[in-house]
Amino acid sequence: MSDTSVFTDDFKTDPYWWEAARPDHEEERALPEACDVLVIGSGFAGLSAALELKRNGVDVCVVDAEALGWGASSRNGGHVSGGVNIGKSSGLPAKQINAMIEEAAESYQHLEDVIERENIDCFYRRSGRFVGAHCPSAYAKLERRVDELNAHVDSGAEMIPRERQREELNTDFYYGGMTVELSGCLHPALYHRGLLNACRAAEVTLCPRTRAGYIAGNEDNFTVDTSRGRIRAKQVVVATNGYTGEATPWHQQRVVPVSSYIIATEELGEQRVRELFPNLKVVGDTKRVLYYFRPSPDLKRVIFGGRASFAAKSALETAPRLHDFMCNVFPQLKGVRITHGWTGNVAFTYDRVPHMGTQSGMHYCLGCNGSGVVMMSHLGHRTALKILGQTNRASAFEAVELPSIPFYGGNPWFLPMVGGYYQLRDWIDRRFAV
Ligand SMILES: Cc1cc2nc3c(=O)[nH]c(=O)nc-3n(C[C@H](O)[C@H](O)[C@H](O)COP(=O)(O)OP(=O)(O)OC[C@H]3O[C@@H](n4cnc5c(N)ncnc54)[C@H](O)[C@@H]3O)c2cc1C
Repeated sequence: MSDTSVFTDDFKTDPYWWEAARPDHEEERALPEACDVLVIGSGFAGLSAALELKRNGVDVCVVDAEALGWGASSRNGGHVSGGVNIGKSSGLPAKQINAMIEEAAESYQHLEDVIERENIDCFYRRSGRFVGAHCPSAYAKLERRVDELNAHVDSGAEMIPRERQREELNTDFYYGGMTVELSGCLHPALYHRGLLNACRAAEVTLCPRTRAGYIAGNEDNFTVDTSRGRIRAKQVVVATNGYTGEATPWHQQRVVPVSSYIIATEELGEQRVRELFPNLKVVGDTKRVLYYFRPSPDLKRVIFGGRASFAAKSALETAPRLHDFMCNVFPQLKGVRITHGWTGNVAFTYDRVPHMGTQSGMHYCLGCNGSGVVMMSHLGHRTALKILGQTNRASAFEAVELPSIPFYGGNPWFLPMVGGYYQLRDWIDRRFAV
């Protein structure tokens, strides 16, 4: 039973970000009969690909089953990371992971360049990030991660022992942690809106409420049936991430959609928010079922996210649980109510790294594994460069093909069990922490 006392009277299950930029339904253009490149999905990946292609003279059409930007791109936490999680538990060779960490750092620069070049007003700040260790052994692992991050790129990663933790975060919940300077935050729906405006200005054909269905043909000659008619395309880009479905079964069998949940508190005022986050960094942690949180762009609220459920549950059901999580970290927030609680899909891959590549002649960029503001923008852009033949080296994220997942056909029935196991492991870690 939900504890509804944590809700304000006007509580909404829409993302807080939509107050500033709601995904766009307006553009009801007719679907063209043909285009050079059909992009499926209008999130950061799809729009980044479309913009680069169109600016290079390619006739590109973006379709989305829902409103433009309806997916994770307008629902996420807005943490901007230069690859802090890349390669963790991937099982890939160290050389491959290092190449990915280096490219992730470049992709961070790409994001900053795009925001500046397109003049996108999205409250971007290079705030830095604090990663809290949920137990002493996790702190020791972070020490090794600091070395790895600093060895390959200028991450500015540093350990913060527990005695100094309150310099970064006003809590005793963690056992110290790591700060990473090459990290930041933005307002995700405004960043998406900025990309969309750039696509509009470039005259990309944008078709919301157009679900791609059966795809026939091969490179240079595809026919795609959509909910609004048939379209021919020389190339197809699959940019559907955590919403990948039956239209592309090969991809569907390789990404596991996992719901992530977020709440926004009522206004606390800037002074109170600064007391919680003295240096205004965004925060993640080392738990398998992690918390991620930050000040809102206007510094008046806390935006707190986590995997509040691994079963299919609504944002209304899970918001009180997230509120409890938030109060575990900040007991000072007991009694503070929440105005918004929402959910969205993250796409996990078997090797826990994002991928781009080509399969049956179709290009894909998929598998954010929870960090896609920078990475999916980057992979969309890289996919466009690949189509344009403008790359002189392959991306580190296309060196390995998107792996299949044993016994997985696209229905993640096992998530409640796996999630329960991870939660138990996290609990044991903390219970026996010394
Ligand atoms: C709650 C949450 C919090 C997150 N927090 C962070 C964070 O703080 N930092 C970070 O870096 N990342 C975060 N992420 C991940 C990040 O949001 C995603 O990686 C990123 O937005 C993915 O962008 P995308 O363009 O690949 O996919 P999406 O933005 O998900 O877009 C995919 C689109 O494809 C469309 N689609 C699917 N199937 C079809 C079809 N058949 N036909 C037409 N259209 C179709 C969908 O409608 C959807 O709009 C978070 C994700 C979630 C859900």
